[in-house]
Amino acid sequence: MNSLPFYTQHLQINGQAFSYPVGKAVCVGRNYADHAKELGNPVPAKPLLFIKPNTAFTPLQQALSLPTHGTRCGYETEIAVLIGQPLSHANTEQAMQAIVGLGLALDLTLRDVQDELKAQRYPWELAKAFDKACPISPFITINEFKELNNIAFNLTVNNELKQNGNSAQMTLAIVDLLVYITQYFSLLAGDVVLTGTPAGVGELHSGDQLILTLDKRFSFSTHVL
Ligand code: ZN
Repeated sequence: MNSLPFYTQHLQINGQAFSYPVGKAVCVGRNYADHAKELGNPVPAKPLLFIKPNTAFTPLQQALSLPTHGTRCGYETEIAVLIGQPLSHANTEQAMQAIVGLGLALDLTLRDVQDELKAQRYPWELAKAFDKACPISPFITINEFKELNNIAFNLTVNNELKQNGNSAQMTLAIVDLLVYITQYFSLLAGDVVLTGTPAGVGELHSGDQLILTLDKRFSFSTHVL
């Protein structure tokens, strides 16, 4: 099998493709205090950053297949920020201007693999950066959002509300997160920043039906094979 059935373009909500190449995802861990607490983790003094490669993206609307190199595949629902121009050592204004759209992503995490890696003090890639570890929705253009610091989003699994977050609860707000990230990692057009997950994370099982809603207006549904 040499075919590469990877995600090749970021999409707009109307189905049109963005012209940017699909880049990396830069992710932040424990950006909501209530989620850090539920996993028994301290809220870090500095943001905890990690990266997923572009091969981790997969369209959220397609059925999700669970990875086979672990047994406990966790979901984390996160606001995803699409970057439209290069950013390095950005200030607030530059960061703001580089945002072209917002969507929702699942930061899939193999918890059993992650626990093992953590115990050995190894990096997390096998638990978080594997193929299709980042199902991602189409993006809604930024001008649809009035206030970046008050964006509600939620996840239901099998019609049960599991995660209910708001960007207002982030430790580091979206723009401040971009400023922080670009001190270390340049962002390019087509990169995506995952902004952390609120409480309510859990594990996915075959047959689960998921609905992710952004800003009470945009809903995306998918299911697990
Ligand atoms: Zn996450």
